[in-house]
Amino acid sequence: MNDIDFIRRTLDDLRARDLYRSLAALGSAAGPRVRLGGREVLQFASNDYLGLAADPRVREAARRALERWGWGAGASRLLTGHTDAHAALEADLAAFKHTEAALVFPTGYLANLGLVTALAGRGDTVVLDRASHASLYDAVRLSGARLVRYAPGDAAAAADALARTADRPGRRLLATDTVFSMDGRLAPLAALARSCGEAGALLLVDEAHATGLLGPTGAGLAEALGLADRPAASVGTLSKALGGLGGFVAAPRETCDLLVNRARPFIYTTALPAAACEAARAALAIARTEPQRRGRVLALADRLRGRLREEGFDPGRSETPIVPVLVGEAGRALEASGALLARGLLCPAIRPPTVPPGGSRLRISLTAGHTEEDVERLVAALAAWRG
Ligand code: PMP
Repeated sequence: MNDIDFIRRTLDDLRARDLYRSLAALGSAAGPRVRLGGREVLQFASNDYLGLAADPRVREAARRALERWGWGAGASRLLTGHTDAHAALEADLAAFKHTEAALVFPTGYLANLGLVTALAGRGDTVVLDRASHASLYDAVRLSGARLVRYAPGDAAAAADALARTADRPGRRLLATDTVFSMDGRLAPLAALARSCGEAGALLLVDEAHATGLLGPTGAGLAEALGLADRPAASVGTLSKALGGLGGFVAAPRETCDLLVNRARPFIYTTALPAAACEAARAALAIARTEPQRRGRVLALADRLRGRLREEGFDPGRSETPIVPVLVGEAGRALEASGALLARGLLCPAIRPPTVPPGGSRLRISLTAGHTEEDVERLVAALAAWRG
């Protein structure tokens, strides 16, 4: 039966359950203050943690590369080759991540798909934190490997999952976000690395929200904990603290060679434009030479969590610029987000399936461009909404 009505029924059902999502048009460059849906808002929604998305030096690097290389890459890198900009970016990323090599993908989402599907397949097992990013879940599905999940942040449960799967044939991988995208929590990486070592499992880390923010040089949580040599491979994005677009895997040379040969999300898609690579190189150079940016946003997040607790809100286990305000039901999260928007503040409501049922929240993300006054305005608006 050709039942096209299922589209309308599905949308109606989403609306009835407060789970419908829609898009708003942005009318200005990235920054804490933007024009969105025709109005000026102070936004706490983007992952541009270091405030580099509209930085003049990043724009200039992109502009110069655009003149030199044109816009489109034309095809997959395996067909058309790649520019000096791609190679230089990969060298920069490998140095930044303390690895032998790096391979750039068009997005971080694709980097996760590519890495997991190249290392695991049918007959293998992948262990994930239940709160893992959708791209890790999708990667495991695409790989055909068996998925085993453990309770969010529970290192003992992760060790148990590895022990329980020890007699299964095939490879075992444990993949984890190092900063969880919807609660700003850190993974218990030291314990996970130890368990993987004991169990003979490969450790993969997704440092999407840690890259540029955590560790002495901003390389991520593994660096912050002195564990940079423990993961078999590390995924990062160019799209959050580095303010642009793209993802990458940092790993030993042979692992990257395997990805070039086996990672379908690398092989069968068009390369990033050279201009995106040069913009990322410029952003990375700024992130490395201006550590005060990450110091600033981390301090501002500390301040926000303190003020939220003083006002009786629950920012959960956040330790990063991602700060949730847990409210429970989807309808209540929408109501809170709407009340803030009425006061000119953009704070997205995060609802199932992004978070579990009953776990709806506002997701506040701070950037180095926010001020103490912005934080106060946000806390006051939240307090006014709650009444
Ligand atoms: N991993 C995590 C933990 C993320 O939060 C995201 C982005 N939301 C990604 C990967 C995907 O990165 P990108 O946006 O570059 O595709």
